[in-house]
Amino acid sequence: MKLLIFHYRIPQCVLDETRAFLFEKGLNGCEGTGLWIGKVNGTHVDITRFFAPEQICIKTEYGVAVDLTQRAHFTLTDNLNPGERFFVRIHSHPDEAYHSDRDNKNQILTHQGAISIVVPDFAAKPIDLSHCAVYRLEHGRGWIPITTEEIRTTFEIVSWTILASPFSLV
Ligand SMILES: [Zn+2]
Repeated sequence: MKLLIFHYRIPQCVLDETRAFLFEKGLNGCEGTGLWIGKVNGTHVDITRFFAPEQICIKTEYGVAVDLTQRAHFTLTDNLNPGERFFVRIHSHPDEAYHSDRDNKNQILTHQGAISIVVPDFAAKPIDLSHCAVYRLEHGRGWIPITTEEIRTTFEIVSWTILASPFSLV
């Protein structure tokens, strides 16, 4: 299947809500994980909301990790309205942002072109995608890192008012 490279429009409020969730998890020493839901709009994807599935914080002597509950895995798509899809998964790390072996094997999102974002330092600061590790799933190749330059051209942060403005629907 051909890799379709979308341009993503992300409302600042979705970034803020995601950060608040990940930061709160981090206060308890836990990684947090969530998904960005959106709709395809031509060659754009408009991200519309953040969704935090039921999750389990895992702490071992090797470090921390986060997993969905089994129920959350099985019922994930029940949370979508007609026309909506999951496009991005986003999770936090205690310090450095990178895709661990465990992250590569994660099965939350497996569609061609899926995006995975890792936020460093338990989201101690407002999310800046250029400071995150961002990957795109290419079937047959795996999760490929997106360069800082490509992050700039692939993701556009918009204010919610612009996206929701009735004038933009004319
Ligand atoms: Zn991870």
